[in-house]
Amino acid sequence: MQKIYLDNAATTPIRQEVIDEMVKVMQSEFGNPSSTHSIGRSSKAVIETSRKTIARYLHCNAQEIVFTSSATEATNWILRSAVKDFGVKRIITSRVEHHATLYTILALQDEFGIQVEYLNVDCDGVLDYPRLEKLLSEDVKTIVSLMHVNNETGVINDINRIGALCHQAKALFHCDTVQSIGKTELDLQQLPVDFVVASAHKFHGPKGIGFAFVRKNLVLQPMIFGGEQEKGWRAGTESVHQIAGMAKALELSYEHLTEERAFISNLKTYCFGQLKAAFPAVEVNGAATFYNILNVLLPFSPEKTAMILFNLDMKGIAVSRGSACQSGSIKPSHVLAEMLTEEALAKPSLRISFSHYNTNEEIDYFVETLKGI
Ligand code: PLP
Repeated sequence: MQKIYLDNAATTPIRQEVIDEMVKVMQSEFGNPSSTHSIGRSSKAVIETSRKTIARYLHCNAQEIVFTSSATEATNWILRSAVKDFGVKRIITSRVEHHATLYTILALQDEFGIQVEYLNVDCDGVLDYPRLEKLLSEDVKTIVSLMHVNNETGVINDINRIGALCHQAKALFHCDTVQSIGKTELDLQQLPVDFVVASAHKFHGPKGIGFAFVRKNLVLQPMIFGGEQEKGWRAGTESVHQIAGMAKALELSYEHLTEERAFISNLKTYCFGQLKAAFPAVEVNGAATFYNILNVLLPFSPEKTAMILFNLDMKGIAVSRGSACQSGSIKPSHVLAEMLTEEALAKPSLRISFSHYNTNEEIDYFVETLKGI
């Protein structure tokens, strides 16, 4: 059966060049990067070259990039360290962040009794910036943790505006850039941000590897103790092939960004046009969304709602649930629950997310299949 993958916000297929690079590194660079002999030094050189490649595309210093196993790990580490080591007493976030952020904050609140303020979003997913400004006018040692692009709706936060407010108030700013790194230009030298996190598998790289950007002069404490790897901040023998694969994936993403972004934007426009033709009452969840994510509310009856993902899966189509109620036991999406009315939440929302590997024909098949449900 033909398989159609329209779930690229969840993860992306690895580019062949990235696989080739990783195989090459696994074959030729088996040394322990901490060993002082030439075989170890050669592995270490792969890591440092990768770090420089990543830093070059994000316009920061290589020393500001710290490799981790995932963005989840990076976020846990940064937020925990902010509370434990920087004396942060308050975290400002929003209810539509990824669970990597939300559950870390809940754990920190439980352990350290810190104050947590949640910003609301409106029905378009737009953040309450005036409240952020108001909160930041209070004299409390704060870290703000707000994402760049929402992984469910694709809504884009104005991180320049958030960063400027944080800078003015001398608050730290941690930004989850998992959905935007490799998909849009980011100049970390200019952007008023202290920490960002990324995950290779979102930009056609391998799983189990990510990184944190930690602004120069901010000294974090380790979350994992052991050897001196990653300045002693993240002990454990480095995964040389994954680091090399991530750097290759980021390099290819940025080298092909202009044409791939144009291609993917067209796919999204085409997909919504086809959906609108088939289901005139279809609506988009979120305003001003990122070019690779389309979250739609479908005007389906409750009976159809229950089985929609299952039926698509049976036809080989992979998309993500956007809202509740497509299966009685699944909890509603915490993101859409903040944006939609009860009535809208009861209808099926789907997150369709694209990559340059998708085609218009796949979208035709997807829409035809939806029509048949
Ligand atoms: N933040 C966002 C916005 C994400 O979409 C994801 C992945 O789903 C994560 C964080 C977690 O990333 P990782 O898979 O590296 O743990």
